[in-house]
Amino acid sequence: MSKSTTISSVETLACDAGWRNYHFVKVTTTDGLVGWSEYDEGFGAPGVTAAIERLSARVVALALGAIENALLDVKAKALGVPCYDLLGGKIRDRVRVYWSHCATWRINHPDWYKPPINDLDGVKAIGAEVREKKFSAMKTNIFVYTDGKPQGWRPGFGSPFQPEINIDRNVLRNLCMHLEAIRDGAGPDVDLLLDLNFNAKTEGYLKILRAIEKMDMFWVEIDTFNPQALGYIRRQSPHPISSCETLLGLREFLPYFTEQAMDVAIIDTPWNGVWQSMKIAAAAEHFEVNVAPHNFYGHLCTVMNAHFCAAVPNLRIMETDIDRLAWDHELFTHVPEFVDGHLVIPDRPGWGTEPSEEGLRAHPPQNKGGLLNYGLKK
Ligand SMILES: [Mg+2]
Repeated sequence: MSKSTTISSVETLACDAGWRNYHFVKVTTTDGLVGWSEYDEGFGAPGVTAAIERLSARVVALALGAIENALLDVKAKALGVPCYDLLGGKIRDRVRVYWSHCATWRINHPDWYKPPINDLDGVKAIGAEVREKKFSAMKTNIFVYTDGKPQGWRPGFGSPFQPEINIDRNVLRNLCMHLEAIRDGAGPDVDLLLDLNFNAKTEGYLKILRAIEKMDMFWVEIDTFNPQALGYIRRQSPHPISSCETLLGLREFLPYFTEQAMDVAIIDTPWNGVWQSMKIAAAAEHFEVNVAPHNFYGHLCTVMNAHFCAAVPNLRIMETDIDRLAWDHELFTHVPEFVDGHLVIPDRPGWGTEPSEEGLRAHPPQNKGGLLNYGLKK
């Protein structure tokens, strides 16, 4: 195995992931090494595949995140080391995770995530499941209950269609009810996180923060396009604020850092590239801010983020989806290992897992848009 090698091809592959598709980059070298990354088209990023295919011929000069991540994998394999060694080395063997989209996936996508949740008892039950499975943190979203049945409230993604994204009394009341149920099930010792995404404006975010002032929250996650608006919110918030999961590149993060707009900076490493993400984390450290990876994709993204978390000093916690598709494990050579609410950092060369091409072929991609089709189809 030679340590210097040349990329001979860059391919994209995809497979069925229930309500969306999973997407992968495969780079092959002239001496037969293969590097992989996972990327996403469903979270507001349609057309990434076309961009990768157009950029692949100029791969040396361009560091698009998905290509960068596949190159890290192939380089680490050429050297026979785990990717975290390319990032400065491992400073922890395991990473604390939070159970993301807790209740959310079982309410929004009952066809794929079992058992379905149809009422507050189900929400309470998953809270208890988090504790019983020894996870120490969970994150949920906004739900409105009609005749006792929950429905996701995400006007920032077009459902319901309320482009004004105001927060009214009914949403506040239902959100409190939902949070109390999940806390009731989980007990007092599990950390509770809330993701508000882009579902309000400044006034609405502040109304939510006031409504849940007395609750014990690990963080409230808020996306807003305006760094000053987020700083204004943070300085009035009784809870820590996390943000920035949709930003691209250090230049987009800097206004949020200089504004001291959030307590925790969330970095999407599949989008940004893990190497570029290390730079963003280093800048965050200068501003006394810890980071957390945005991770709600397939298992390859989870291990890519694991390497990032292994190497980054100023880490807060890692996002991960514990509810999985029935066929998720067929798509990869290794699945993530969780022990006592922590992800064990894999020490195998490269990322330590890769897609199984046979598994991908068995689940061909469907015509689905992930979050982009929320307003059209559940
Ligand atoms: Mg989020």
